[in-house]
Amino acid sequence: MNTRFDIIVIGAGHAGLEAAVASARMGKKTALVTLNKNKIALMSCNPAIGGLAKGQLVKEIDALGGVMGKIIDESGIHFKMLNSSKGPAVQSPRAQADRKYYAFTAIRFAQETTNLTVVEDMAVGVKTKNGKITAVTLLKNGDLSCQAAVVTAGTFLNGVIFTGLHRVPAGLAGDLPVKGLTESLEKAGFFSARLKTGTPPRVHRDTIDFSKTEIQEPDMVPVPFSYSTDSIHRKQVNCHIVYTSETTHEILRLGFDRSPLFMGTIQGAGPRYCPSIEDKINRFSDKPRHQLFLEPEGYNNVEVYVNGFSTSLPGDIQERALRTVSGLEKVKILRLGYAVEYDFFPPNQLQHTLETKQVKNLYFAGQINGTSGYEEAAAQGLMAGINAALKLDKKERFVLERSEAYIGVLIDDLINKTHDEPYRMFTSRAEFRLMLRQDNADLRLMEKGRALGLVEEKAFNKYQNKKEQIHRIRAKDLGRRIQPAWFNSRFAGKSTALQQAQKIKDLVKRPELKLIDLLAAVTEETYSEAAVSEVEYNAKYEGYLKRQLEQIEKFKRVEKKKIPEEINYREIKALSVEAREKLQAVRPENLGQASRISGVRNADISVLVVFLEKYRRMDVSRET
Ligand SMILES: Cc1cc2nc3c(=O)[nH]c(=O)nc-3n(C[C@H](O)[C@H](O)[C@H](O)COP(=O)(O)OP(=O)(O)OC[C@H]3O[C@@H](n4cnc5c(N)ncnc54)[C@H](O)[C@@H]3O)c2cc1C
Repeated sequence: MNTRFDIIVIGAGHAGLEAAVASARMGKKTALVTLNKNKIALMSCNPAIGGLAKGQLVKEIDALGGVMGKIIDESGIHFKMLNSSKGPAVQSPRAQADRKYYAFTAIRFAQETTNLTVVEDMAVGVKTKNGKITAVTLLKNGDLSCQAAVVTAGTFLNGVIFTGLHRVPAGLAGDLPVKGLTESLEKAGFFSARLKTGTPPRVHRDTIDFSKTEIQEPDMVPVPFSYSTDSIHRKQVNCHIVYTSETTHEILRLGFDRSPLFMGTIQGAGPRYCPSIEDKINRFSDKPRHQLFLEPEGYNNVEVYVNGFSTSLPGDIQERALRTVSGLEKVKILRLGYAVEYDFFPPNQLQHTLETKQVKNLYFAGQINGTSGYEEAAAQGLMAGINAALKLDKKERFVLERSEAYIGVLIDDLINKTHDEPYRMFTSRAEFRLMLRQDNADLRLMEKGRALGLVEEKAFNKYQNKKEQIHRIRAKDLGRRIQPAWFNSRFAGKSTALQQAQKIKDLVKRPELKLIDLLAAVTEETYSEAAVSEVEYNAKYEGYLKRQLEQIEKFKRVEKKKIPEEINYREIKALSVEAREKLQAVRPENLGQASRISGVRNADISVLVVFLEKYRRMDVSRET
């Protein structure tokens, strides 16, 4: 086997696949080292991609040339646009996948990528020289040399799985834990901590009485994630909803004395926003029932995922409790729910490129950085892979601002904030979310992806076509006037009648009117739905967007205020003690970043502004 690579990616989960494909497509000889060649981008938990804010991440990954959107378009069996009745800024695509077919498609993507070699082995250490990564040590194959490496080990580092009193070392059910890599990274100067997450039981489809469940239908016309997918014609399936009851909760409580969560056996913090069922009934004891979604894992797969019932309670309790749910009286569990505790590396050890501060050309991405979720992992993997390849080419780094992408928000939050639970993306984390919509990710990012060499011709042509159409509608049509006769005959009873001709750009501000209907009065040109809705959104929400653009400009001005690298924050006594320590650890690049570090208050920023001004004057007088 070849033992020399430009870039080695450790782990072929969602982060690893994106990192490896990006780096290989950017011309780097890449090795993707993973425990099992047949488990690439495996969905370890919920067989679904997207959802609120996460859907936006997938669209951004796709606009930059990543693969997640394409894979889910090929394997999705239940597509739904969430919040479709609300405004575009809060809509998010989500799709259930055929879990096996998702992984199968991911394997095909890896195999079809030029410059990419998948190596089945366990990475147990890294080697460095003069503070720079030089090799990755594998359990079976020994050392592979590299110029850069991306670690995307997910939940596998010293992973331990818990079900009741059973405790098994494992990265995922059925997979080995990884020993040695944490210790090797710690030797190289990193510090690690523990987190936990959990998964619900999978039950046999034929043991559910679907007649007692509520049906959740997919969208009539599935909307693809990827800008390169024209449409989706695969058969779509239903999901089903059931509810727990007081009886279910009573049975679950019977298992509390064997719960690793309540007995303190699990030390790592879990995601508060995605609690286990035992956590839910404990924290919200007044709630008489909780909703559970029964989500099929595939067309030819009898396993059904019980979303909302994540648990590490003993197996007998899981089964008894589920059988109290109407529709699940005879349910058979195929795989028990469990919790997994694992090592992660607090991400304030990283730069915005996801390169570590400690070791040059070494990058961390995905759940190893304390995040949770496939989409968060994939986004980081893509950015780490891109930056590793750019660095080897001595090109400028690729960093996205908070104002241009959820990916920018994700990475900025990771490296600046303190994380005591797994981080997942929410729309509320993005202060400029009116601009960061799922439907405009191409307009925001595709030219960047194309410049990196990652966006294919087909998607880029579609994007250019959309941009041209948007331009034509704005330049030609928005300023045209609609005559009262035409308008009043069409919209009588729906909208206030016109007394005199009015421009489309003014009429479209009326909430009840659709741009597509107004355009019919002035043009016969057929515009794409995407182009029309982009123009419509901007016209309808012009006032809000203008305010947001002003905020972005203000944000950018603060981001431009660079902080010299050599500042010793410990010597700035006017800063609070906490701010001194945090600033010294993170070493922000600019005032904006400094203001977002957990523990740095407004008063500290004022001190810093005065200090930097003095520092700048001293610097200037030194030079003159
Ligand atoms: C039990 C469980 C429950 C979860 N629940 C949720 C949830 O409810 N909601 C949610 O959003 N997310 C959940 N997740 C998280 C989600 O699965 C992960 O966030 C996502 O898969 C992380 O992607 P990743 O690429 O970082 O790592 P993973 O998908 O875990 O992939 C890691 C990869 O690295 C490989 N690997 C690891 N170490 C080595 C090594 N040393 N050498 C070679 N290969 C290595 C593994 O084989 C694997 O292929 C859950 C995860 C688990 C395990």
